[in-house]
Amino acid sequence: MHTTRLYIDGAFAPPVAGGSFPAIDPASEQPFAHVAAGQAEDIDRAVRAARRAFDAGVWSGLTGAQRGAFLRKVAEGLRTRLAEIAAIEVRDNGKPLPEAEWDVGDAAFTFDYYAGLAEAEDSRADEEVDVGDARFRASITREPLGVVGAITPWNYPLLMAVWKVAPALAAGCTIVLKPSELCSLSCETLAEIIHDAGIPAGVFNLVTGTGPEAGQPLADHPLCDKLAFTGSVATGRKVMMAAASGIRTVALELGGKSPFLVFADCDVEKAVEWILFGIFWNKGEVCSATSRVLVERSLYPRLLARLKEAAEAIAIGSGDAPGVKLGPIVSKGQYDKILAAIASGRASGARLVSGGERPEGVAQGYFLQPTIFADVPVDAGIWREEIFGPVVCVNPFDTEEQALALANDSAYGLAAAVMSDDLDRCERVARKLRAGIVWVNCSQPTFAQLPWGGFKTSGIGRELGRAGYDAYFETKQITRFDPSEVWGWYLPGPA
Ligand code: NAD
Repeated sequence: MHTTRLYIDGAFAPPVAGGSFPAIDPASEQPFAHVAAGQAEDIDRAVRAARRAFDAGVWSGLTGAQRGAFLRKVAEGLRTRLAEIAAIEVRDNGKPLPEAEWDVGDAAFTFDYYAGLAEAEDSRADEEVDVGDARFRASITREPLGVVGAITPWNYPLLMAVWKVAPALAAGCTIVLKPSELCSLSCETLAEIIHDAGIPAGVFNLVTGTGPEAGQPLADHPLCDKLAFTGSVATGRKVMMAAASGIRTVALELGGKSPFLVFADCDVEKAVEWILFGIFWNKGEVCSATSRVLVERSLYPRLLARLKEAAEAIAIGSGDAPGVKLGPIVSKGQYDKILAAIASGRASGARLVSGGERPEGVAQGYFLQPTIFADVPVDAGIWREEIFGPVVCVNPFDTEEQALALANDSAYGLAAAVMSDDLDRCERVARKLRAGIVWVNCSQPTFAQLPWGGFKTSGIGRELGRAGYDAYFETKQITRFDPSEVWGWYLPGPA
């Protein structure tokens, strides 16, 4: 069985203290690899390497075009090894193969997209600012922020890492990546591709390990300038506290309980298709999953009946089996959490419309039927808390105002969706939804060119798009006083 290595200062090596833990295939519940268990001393070596590389200017000192050329090589490397990486993601995470292939393609596109922004940086002029005093010439410039500590989750093991690595490198930062201990393998392949692209030593570093043993020391490290985190609210809070104690920039991409408003004038088949895609794609292990569906009352019974029928036709199985649209849940821990949420949903008085059980005849693997609850009390845990699995709650509404009030009544604000043939209504509703991402007549399509992030407890800051690149710069003003002038406050100046 393969044992992964850390990648620090341009070299692949085991952790200083040795040690590893198994990677488990969620379809078979069997270990298939060992993951290097990095610890505080490995994090320290990695951060110091990133610091040295940043301070020496081996990366930040290049032109944007030079950095862009490296990033395009990484994109090419990802495309060349697409099949291999997709197979790793299926094994490690359980997602269906076509979804994994899609992820790797997206990761390559993200590197290309940020290569383009790096290239454009070279022709970007400093902004001259008139301060209202002719003796001063002032301008605003920007510089890469420095060393980034990136901590990522398991639902898109490669892609969530790339959303940080690609813009950070494009901007001229150096980075230490700590992926989720549940799915670390594809990030080792990313490190190989970055190495093969010839990116200088220390610019990108990878330390795998658990949250407490590797994540926390990275969050606490005084030589990191910025922490970029994607994961749960509970861990995000710890990362933010670590950032606060060191006064470091922090970006948080956290959870969600995103609403999907379905009006009675829309086509039922299209609504069902997007509701399914909004919650069962990637097994519902999606931060932006539209897990609370609100349906206009006149459509509610018909839509629920069709949703049940369509959900029960979804092919469940191992991610590498042809035609499968729902793979196993990532881990035993996550599987048990989802089963507990389903039990609490049953106890809450909500109506279980479909699913809620292990599929019949499947003895092994963390498989679960797509699950639909209806008539859910709005104070129930399943309506309010993120489940992060293939479980959707559906409730009726009577008016647009009521739908908006129910949709916005959440601690989260990552995403939302609205479906109606009345496009004026869609625009009106989209602007009133308190969320960073609003989909109209669809749910989940995500583009690297557009900013991604949440309102409220769904996070701080934006990834992707130009905003996700600007987030890796410091802003600097340079204010120049005309040397031929005299200030004349304490001294009169030359006679
Ligand atoms: P998690 O918070 O358990 O773990 C995320 C990462 O934090 C992992 O790498 C983990 O090892 C690390 N970690 C754990 N304890 C730590 C500590 N004390 N200090 C530093 N790092 C620590 O989250 P998860 O279960 O891997 O991912 C699921 C969560 O991620 C969900 O809540 C989901 O909504 C969220 N998510 C958000 C987005 C987004 O873009 N907003 C995208 C994907 C996932």
